[in-house]
Amino acid sequence: MDFEIIREFDFSAAHSLPKYNGKCKNFHGHNYILEVYVRVDVADMKDGIGIDTAEIKNIVNETVIDVLDHSNLNDIMENPSMENICIWIHAQIAKRINTKGRLSKLRLWETGRNSIIMNCV
Ligand SMILES: [Zn+2]
Repeated sequence: MDFEIIREFDFSAAHSLPKYNGKCKNFHGHNYILEVYVRVDVADMKDGIGIDTAEIKNIVNETVIDVLDHSNLNDIMENPSMENICIWIHAQIAKRINTKGRLSKLRLWETGRNSIIMNCV
């Protein structure tokens, strides 16, 4: 038995997808929503808590949100598609989150209708 603890973040950023054949080839922006899922076994809970969401908040804010918010994503990673943004975010946070629980999923919303789920375990 385990819990999936979820913390939501948002950031605004610009990008262009030079390899994409369509409108997203042009420079434009999104208000992204990021959901971070951390799995904690019931047996590993401490004082009734799996992981303090403030710990997830601090790790993700320091390593992801402070870097990506109001940035040009093309300056930070190559071809910043939803998939590549998730891979970049995973690389920043996995090690630190996994000392607290297991980073199990990342969900990134690019628009109210388009999102992607990265399964991390
Ligand atoms: Zn876009």
